[in-house]
Amino acid sequence: VLIIGAGIAGISAALWCKRLGLHPVIIECTNQMGGQLHQIKNKIWDFPPHVYRNGQELYHGLRENIEVKQLDIRFEESLLSIDIDKHLAKTTKSVYAADYLMMATGVRHNSLSVMDTSTIVLDPWFSTTSEAEILKDKQVLVIGGGDRALESVFNLSAYAKHIWLAARSKRLRGRSEWVERIKHRPNVTIFMETVLLNTVETAEQTGAVLCNHASKESFFLPVDWILPRIGVRGNSDAALFLSHDGEGFLIADEYQRTSADWIYAIGDLTNGSAYASIALAAGQAMKAAKHISLRIKERNTYV
Ligand SMILES: Cc1cc2nc3c(=O)[nH]c(=O)nc-3n(C[C@H](O)[C@H](O)[C@H](O)COP(=O)(O)OP(=O)(O)OC[C@H]3O[C@@H](n4cnc5c(N)ncnc54)[C@H](O)[C@@H]3O)c2cc1C
Repeated sequence: VLIIGAGIAGISAALWCKRLGLHPVIIECTNQMGGQLHQIKNKIWDFPPHVYRNGQELYHGLRENIEVKQLDIRFEESLLSIDIDKHLAKTTKSVYAADYLMMATGVRHNSLSVMDTSTIVLDPWFSTTSEAEILKDKQVLVIGGGDRALESVFNLSAYAKHIWLAARSKRLRGRSEWVERIKHRPNVTIFMETVLLNTVETAEQTGAVLCNHASKESFFLPVDWILPRIGVRGNSDAALFLSHDGEGFLIADEYQRTSADWIYAIGDLTNGSAYASIALAAGQAMKAAKHISLRIKERNTYV
């Protein structure tokens, strides 16, 4: 079983494959396992029995686990393409013939081209719980209208001098609890139907050029920082021939099988942000590994 991605989904899948007598090999494009665990700055209390101070602590526990240490993980190797008929996976270092493939490649942030070269755009992984202090007394523009954007506005409102939220749509997508909370913050202003056109970064001033869809008017907003919260998409570039939802999230059946019979999808890559969690990723890993082992058993019975 070739597993692509060494986040919590890929590692859990490999452990279950091993337990069920399968032969798992993981390839991971970075030089370390853990994936998004490295970005979690909050306490993790929903993956019992331990309460981890943050993702790093869970990552260290994983890395030191004796079973995980024995896994065959090939770092700095990236999936490039899949030959669906020949059961081949081409990577940056090799070509693998696999009976089964598990895609566990997680997600990446959406980006806007205007953000690529800007020095006032914060990293999309910026944590508004552990790093908010940096924005104390600053003027901040948050881009987005979902839960993460609203939560970020709420968290930052305790630190920043003023926060503007620019949302593209007519209505905020985030949960009403968040909308209610930020509505009552005196230092928060919301712009609806508004998009970021450009940034201005001169010695005299920094800020954002925004445009209102409805009025077609553009205007300059002086801000110190811009925080993008415009969602994530599935890392499925090498597998877009499989059924997906248009945002890179692979569609899987109840056993985590994709539209190709021998390819499975587990973890955030198939869950979307609403259901992204360590527990679900680990659970899906188990289900996919078990399904593969039962299929092999069934096949061997009939041979
Ligand atoms: C800030 C933050 C806080 C969170 N807090 C919690 C929490 O408290 N509780 C909770 O349950 N969940 C939490 N989550 C969600 C949780 O971290 C994720 O649901 C989970 O880690 C997803 O694991 P995954 O293995 O599916 O994907 P990922 O962790 O994204 O792993 C995917 C791996 O695949 C690799 N990869 C990608 N493309 C390729 C390729 N082409 N070839 C080879 N390798 C590739 C990546 O490098 C990565 O290592 C949080 C997430 C964030 C960002």
